[in-house]
Amino acid sequence: MLQFVVLCALLLALVIPPVNAAIIDWHGEKRLSTEQFETAKRWLDFGIKATTHVIGPLPQTTLPIHLKPRYFASEPVPWAFIRRAQTATQYDGIELQYYRYASFTALQQDWTLYHELVHLYHPYLGPQNSWLSEGLATYLQQHILLNAGIISPAEFTERLVAGLNRGKKQTVKITGSLSAVSRAMYEKRAQQRVYWSGTAFFIEAELQLKAKGTSVAKILASYNQCCREKDDNAEQFITKLDRLAKGPIFSNLYARYQQRLDFPTVSETDIHLLSHAKILALSI
Ligand SMILES: [Zn+2]
Repeated sequence: MLQFVVLCALLLALVIPPVNAAIIDWHGEKRLSTEQFETAKRWLDFGIKATTHVIGPLPQTTLPIHLKPRYFASEPVPWAFIRRAQTATQYDGIELQYYRYASFTALQQDWTLYHELVHLYHPYLGPQNSWLSEGLATYLQQHILLNAGIISPAEFTERLVAGLNRGKKQTVKITGSLSAVSRAMYEKRAQQRVYWSGTAFFIEAELQLKAKGTSVAKILASYNQCCREKDDNAEQFITKLDRLAKGPIFSNLYARYQQRLDFPTVSETDIHLLSHAKILALSI
């Protein structure tokens, strides 16, 4: 498995075309030794390459990275989140709380950075739509991991099936409409239902887009290149995705999902189909 990961990482480094690299604006790097900072730089460099390979260039020229290294942690990246820009002159950034002694390989294999990077590709959508934003990040992080060779097609399927099962299980206990539960996600501890209902939304969208010869990754890349406005709300975001998909795929699903009380049904066969859909990425 390790050989597979190393080989794929090597291949990825060779095949990735140069992208419009964003300048990283580092914060907190003074807390690290020279060697630890080198590891962090390598980690970010790999994460950005793997992400842009699937969903296109980062939608900003500068990326603030706030490093919060921990002395004790039970996993490489226990916590991370997006720090949205507060003024017109600021950029969205990422805070990474991670284990300072984690190796490059351990950091590279952790899903968190890829997940946070995906969040940069959509505007702030509000707490009632966290199912939409978390679903997008959770869904695309799997494609980034797959495309970078960090997980195999079988692991891709396994992770999605396991996550969807957790979401389904939690929906029995945490009732209410998906948008209401999303708004109260932290109080209700409803992350499994919220994240994985949103993931199911993008799987459903993907299957419909696939029939039209396009993909969620391609539509999201186009949105950021042609049509994104800083203050797009959820409705504007969905309308623009529909326009790029040349049909109401996203708005139809959105209307259904935000009010839904149940957990969506996604077949394992469909997920398996997507696990072999490397063509969904922008380039190979
Ligand atoms: Zn997230």
